[in-house]
Order: sequence, then structure tokens, then C-alpha cells
Amino acid sequence: MTEVKTWGGRPFWGLGYEWDPDWLLTPHQRDQRATLIDLCEQEMRANAERSDDELRFPRRNLELLGEHGFLALTVPEEYGGLGGNHLSFAMACETIARYGCASTAMCYVMHVVAVQAIMLRPTLELVERYIRPLGSGRIGTLSYSDPQTGGHFWYPISSGAERVDGTFRVHKKSSWTTSGGFADFYVVQTTSPDFTGYDDLSVFVVDAADVAARPALWDALGLRGNQSGGVEVTDAVVPAANLVGPVGDGAESNDEAVDPWFLTGSSAVWNGIAMGAIDIAKRHTTGKEHRDTGKRVADYPTIQDYVGEAVIDTNASRLAAYSVAGALDRATDDNRRVLEPGTTARAGYLHWCWQMKFTAAKNVTGVVDSMLHACGGSGYRRDLGLERYLRDGKAGWVMGPSNEVLRQFVGRSVLLGADAVDYWNRTVDERTLRSETGKLDPAGKRALAVRLLAEADAAERADPNRKVAGA
Ligand SMILES: Cc1cc2nc3c(=O)[nH]c(=O)nc-3n(C[C@H](O)[C@H](O)[C@H](O)COP(=O)(O)OP(=O)(O)OC[C@H]3O[C@@H](n4cnc5c(N)ncnc54)[C@H](O)[C@@H]3O)c2cc1C
Repeated sequence: MTEVKTWGGRPFWGLGYEWDPDWLLTPHQRDQRATLIDLCEQEMRANAERSDDELRFPRRNLELLGEHGFLALTVPEEYGGLGGNHLSFAMACETIARYGCASTAMCYVMHVVAVQAIMLRPTLELVERYIRPLGSGRIGTLSYSDPQTGGHFWYPISSGAERVDGTFRVHKKSSWTTSGGFADFYVVQTTSPDFTGYDDLSVFVVDAADVAARPALWDALGLRGNQSGGVEVTDAVVPAANLVGPVGDGAESNDEAVDPWFLTGSSAVWNGIAMGAIDIAKRHTTGKEHRDTGKRVADYPTIQDYVGEAVIDTNASRLAAYSVAGALDRATDDNRRVLEPGTTARAGYLHWCWQMKFTAAKNVTGVVDSMLHACGGSGYRRDLGLERYLRDGKAGWVMGPSNEVLRQFVGRSVLLGADAVDYWNRTVDERTLRSETGKLDPAGKRALAVRLLAEADAAERADPNRKVAGA
């Protein structure tokens, strides 16, 4: 018999466990989920309202997660963590977003991804300084997005680092950083010292004292507690021990740690928001009666269709997320493998991670709309709580890598091969080049040639060893 989902000691008012893909979770993961649901019922869901109303950082919710060990969920037991895997992470992110607070869930995603970026190359110093203290409630975040490259967050063009007497001088400008101004440590990516070209990036941990943020400027449609404003690190002197991995490890760190973990956690958040909206719609439509017809809203077949389709689509997306998380678990011996630079495991599943995020973000965008339609005007009012889920869910599509970018990645890879994705903006599109230059008249071609020769001379003078793609 399926266990009964409870909420404050009574049966849960939304969808029960029979609509959760529980055969994929271990008994321990299901216990952890029950703990998280209790925390949401006791405090986190109420705090979500305040965060949303007052643009307040969900500090208390993150403290609660810390008190129960969840800030170190994916950290091995020998370093004081709970030893969780990718599936544990997906379960936790989904649960916090569904029953508690989506802003907290997104801060949690960024925190765990920052932790995992460090744990890709764990050193004694990094573990002692940033990983073991997680039990005391310290949180980290990921500061990648650059004002000049928008959603192509893997191009930190406004940032850099130089070697100075055995340390690094790091500067970083970030246009978006979840928990900006509230995190204790920031994992940042910059162009490398002795930068040689666009995939030459390095990863540093920077302490809060070196990070300037103006959280008072943060205001957004949804995830309002998230505090995802810009931050700046101005010539901070960072000890060599805070370089994560070797100089130039950034691209591999993205493919092996940041992207797979972020895409798993954020997809789970979008799925959690979709399920949370369906929970609210169930409670409302089964509770409201139209006296003239004697029917509840839930008795109309139109409403049943809305809910049926939303559950089917969301559960397809959840199954995809749990399955990709399971693949990452198998590739990493349940998140226990320590990989040397040059060896990858998760990176082989990146194209699955892209599909997982596209599906989850697309689904939540539609589900929150259809649940609003199912609840009618009551859903539009703030007191039902649905409209917060609607606003929070809309972040999924636009958050980098955006769904426009992801479907391009997938379509290009399928049709033209993986190299055509051209993350690093290096492969010349010969067909477009020939087609566009072919349109020029002789004078236009000569003018272009003169300009290109001048650019080539300048590039050679600046860096004689620079490799340039051939036309
Ligand atoms: C709530 C929230 C929290 C965030 N938290 C963090 C964080 O903690 N750390 C962090 O580093 N970043 C974070 N981000 C930033 C995020 O990852 C993106 O960098 C950001 O959303 C990009 O916004 P933009 O206005 O610069 O978009 P732009 O990149 O300017 O995009 C504008 C439009 O162009 C489209 N577009 C862009 N490139 C292409 C392309 N190649 N092909 C087709 N279409 C394209 C986009 O899809 C979009 O429709 C957060 C964003 C949000 C919304």
C-alpha cells in the first residue's frame, strides 16, 4: 500500500505519493524528502510569502536546511556531509520548490553547485575552509553571468586574474548572482592569468568580504527572495589555495561540474513549481462549489483535462530529470569518484542535461498558466498562493542557458554535429561567410579585405602566437 503523504500530521491537501515516481528513490531519499516536507510545513512555506512580499533573502529557510545537514547534502560523509548523489539533489530541490519556497530552492541550487564546483578538485585547504563549515550554515553561490555576454554565462569577458607574488589578483563583474550580497563565499570564473583564448578560464573561491553587492537594487517578477543582482570583485587578492583546479580548468569545470549540477538542480526546481501549482489547483477546484449547478469546479471535464494534462506532462519531465540524475550517479559511482583534470564522467551527459532543462522549463511555463485558468479569478488573487508559483516558474525559460539557446544547441548538434555548437565562438561558419561576402560588389569586397588585413595585423601584433581559425 502507498504511504500517506502528511502535512502537519494530516493527509496532504495536494497530490499524494501515488503521483510521485517513488520507485526511483531509495528509502533513505524518501525519508529525507519527508523531513523536507515537514520543514516546509512548519516554516519554509510561510517564509516564502514574506520573501516574495518584501524581497527578503530566505536566510531562515537556508538556516533550517543547514540545521538538518542539507547544505552539505552532496558532500561525502568523511568531510561532514550527507553523502548524497545527483538524485538526492534533484529530490531536495524539487521538494523545497514544491512544498516550501522556490526562492530558497534556487539559492539552494546555486549553493550546492558552488560546493560541487569546489569538490571537483578538492584540496585540504578548500575542504577545511569551505566544505567542513557547511554544517554551521555557511552558504556559497555561483557568480558567472557577465554583463557583456548575457545568457552566454560561460564567457566571463569582463573578468580577469593576474599572478601577484604567489597569489592572484582577481576582478569579476557579474550581472546576476543568486544570493548576491548574502552568500559567505562565491565561486567565480574569470579569464585565466596569461589568458590565451576564449576557453582559457579559471575558477576561484572569493570570500564575501571581497565582494561588493547592492541587494537593495534587486526587484524582479518572481523568485523575489533570490536576490540575484549583480556583484563585483575589484582586484581582490586571492590566496593561491583558492584557485580551484589548475589554471585553465574553467571550461572542464563547466562541463563536468557546474553545468550538469546546475541543470539537474534547476530542472528539479521547475518541476517542483509545476507540481506545487497543481497541488494548489487540486485543493481549490475540489473545494469550491457552484451553487447553481451543484457542481464543484473539479467536476467540470475542462478542469479535469487541464489537471490531467499538467500531471502527465510534469511527470514526464520529472521522470526525465530523475533518469538523467541517475545516469550522472552511475557515471560517478554515486558522486564518489574524484576525477583528475583531463578525465570526465558527467560531461558525456551534457546533451541530456540540456534536454532535461528545456523540458522542465517549457513545462512549468505552460503548467502555471493552465493551473491559473483552472482556478479562474480566484487563482489570480494573491491569497490563493498560485500566482507566486506562476511568477516564480517564469524564470525557468529565461535563466541561462535559456530555452532558445538550448534548443539551438540540441538542433545544431543533431543536424550538424556536436562541434557545430561552438560554445567558444571559434568555428567559422563557412557557408554564411561565403553567402554574405558573395553579396558584396567589387568595391565592397576590397573595403572588407582592407579592414580584415588591418585587423589581422593588429591581432598578430597583440599576440604573435594566437591561433586564428582559417577561412
Ligand atoms: C532568477 C535568476 C537567477 C539567476 N541567478 C544567476 C546566478 O546565480 N549566477 C549567474 O551566473 N547567473 C544567474 N542568472 C543569470 C542567467 O543565467 C542568465 O545569464 C540571464 O538570465 C541572461 O539574461 P540576459 O538579459 O542577459 O539575456 P540575453 O542573453 O541578453 O538574452 C536575450 C534573449 O536572446 C536570446 N539569446 C541569447 N543568445 C542566443 C543564442 N545564441 N541563440 C538564440 N537566442 C539567444 C535569449 O534566449 C533571450 O531570449 C540568473 C537569472 C535569473 C532570471
